[in-house]
Amino acid sequence: MTLLDAVVVGSGPNGLAAAVTLARAGMGVRVLEAQPTVGGGARTRPIPELASDLVFDLCSAVHPMAWASPFFRAFDLPGRGVGLVAPDIAYAQPLDDGRAGIAFRDLALTADRLGHDGDAWRELFGPLAADWRQITALAMGDKRTVRGMLEGARSSRGQSPTAGGLASAVRPGLRFGAALLEQGGPRWDRRFLTEEAKALLTGVAAHAITPLPSFAGAGTALLLAALAHAEGGWAIPVGGSQAIINAMVSDLEAHGGVVEVGRRVESWRDLPPSRAVLFDTTPRTLLRIAGDRIRSPRRGALNRFRHGNAAAKVDFVLSGPIPWKVTDVGRAATVHVGGTRAEMVVAEDTVAHGLHADKPMVLVSDPTVADPGRARGGVRPLWAYAHVPAGSPQDVTEAVTRQIERFAPGFRDVVVGSRCIPAAQMDRHNENYPGGDISAGAATMWQMVARPTLSPDPYQVAEGVYLCSASTPPGPGVHGMGGWHAARRALLREFDVRTVPDLRP
Ligand SMILES: Cc1cc2nc3c(=O)[nH]c(=O)nc-3n(C[C@H](O)[C@H](O)[C@H](O)COP(=O)(O)OP(=O)(O)OC[C@H]3O[C@@H](n4cnc5c(N)ncnc54)[C@H](O)[C@@H]3O)c2cc1C
Repeated sequence: MTLLDAVVVGSGPNGLAAAVTLARAGMGVRVLEAQPTVGGGARTRPIPELASDLVFDLCSAVHPMAWASPFFRAFDLPGRGVGLVAPDIAYAQPLDDGRAGIAFRDLALTADRLGHDGDAWRELFGPLAADWRQITALAMGDKRTVRGMLEGARSSRGQSPTAGGLASAVRPGLRFGAALLEQGGPRWDRRFLTEEAKALLTGVAAHAITPLPSFAGAGTALLLAALAHAEGGWAIPVGGSQAIINAMVSDLEAHGGVVEVGRRVESWRDLPPSRAVLFDTTPRTLLRIAGDRIRSPRRGALNRFRHGNAAAKVDFVLSGPIPWKVTDVGRAATVHVGGTRAEMVVAEDTVAHGLHADKPMVLVSDPTVADPGRARGGVRPLWAYAHVPAGSPQDVTEAVTRQIERFAPGFRDVVVGSRCIPAAQMDRHNENYPGGDISAGAATMWQMVARPTLSPDPYQVAEGVYLCSASTPPGPGVHGMGGWHAARRALLREFDVRTVPDLRP
């Protein structure tokens, strides 16, 4: 049997980013994917029992990182014909009394609409949005080395990660750190006076599925909220998330790579012979397949990797737009449906205690806001999920409907059909989300930094064996950075390739 250069287990955005990077360096690459279709957490598929003409984003739907991540900036999705359309409202937070917090892409407009809190919002996000490149590079770095933390800035500006790069990253990094300390701790309530501003930022922090305030929540909120006011906004890919995946697969195939679907890897025997294997999987799956190749204490540390609380997904078919009380809410890429800051804190705390919240945190996205072509035959898809405890078997359709109905009376009347995937069933569709942990690892501050273990190299776990999924730095999201960092290390260590492959179309 021919010896391949590299095998990648899993075809999520990180697996494909690794495969593309390796193939671009001239390596022979094969990707093995368990599911019948390619793309992991970025698949867009029909759900025949719901609607014959529509397609649904099974996992990710909204993509600030598809234009901002250093990997995707180098890969250039727009240059490959992938439309990344950001509505002029990135996210919104409806409140009970007919008010709402609205995050426009335009920072000045957001500040104006926030009234009393306008200056405080501008003061927090003005500098972060202006320095989004450095902030993103730091957040998307390998969390271990100066070089790994600056490479993102380099690929966007064509400079090497030199002292100049370091100097330009220091001030934004310190500013981000100061904001993190403020928003991740007890002082988070001091900045804003109005519920609109407090709830608006808390809705973004809640993406981390963790008790609030917390550093993991604050890090998520500050990065995503800054990107809302930056160049590309909160983008929705035309046609769905799959457009990103299709562009990656095309590039991989054009450089000799192969993707095989329906190929679940159970054990090392299922792998074709190769010089390197990169796992776009959880540490648990990695250990099942390659555990006897990983030495202690690394193996023990990987075994202690913790999964977090969960999401239960609901896909709706609607006969028309959601009748939000505040009409601007319907123009947002994402609506955070959780009510006030205090309500969201209670909801996340309840989930952290292993219980279902009465008023759960719900995220909603209507892709037709940016991509009207997603509506067909008078109906449109609606993407939603609710935070629930890990492993919850509960069908959350009614809970999600109730939450939306609170802020959009008459929502039930536009619902034509729905399907729930409870958290407990999420891993049937993607084994990287055990118990419904869509972040592929608990979002504790420890695991945000020491992900997946505290070792100096978070990617290489044994000779020729790498982990490259969202369970490695920088963590969850469709950014391809775990795959890119891991592939760069594999190129250096297994193939002595020191130059960064050119990823441009
Ligand atoms: C409901 C939901 C909503 C989300 N919303 C967003 C969003 O709006 N924006 C955003 O940026 N992110 C979002 N995310 C997160 C994002 O989808 C993930 O963080 C991202 O896809 C992780 O990429 P990955 O390549 O590490 O893993 P995945 O995309 O999860 O891919 C892993 C792949 O590996 C395959 N695999 C696993 N084990 C094996 C095996 N043994 N053999 C063969 N194949 C295997 C899986 O089938 C899967 O295809 C969401 C996730 C979910 C579930």
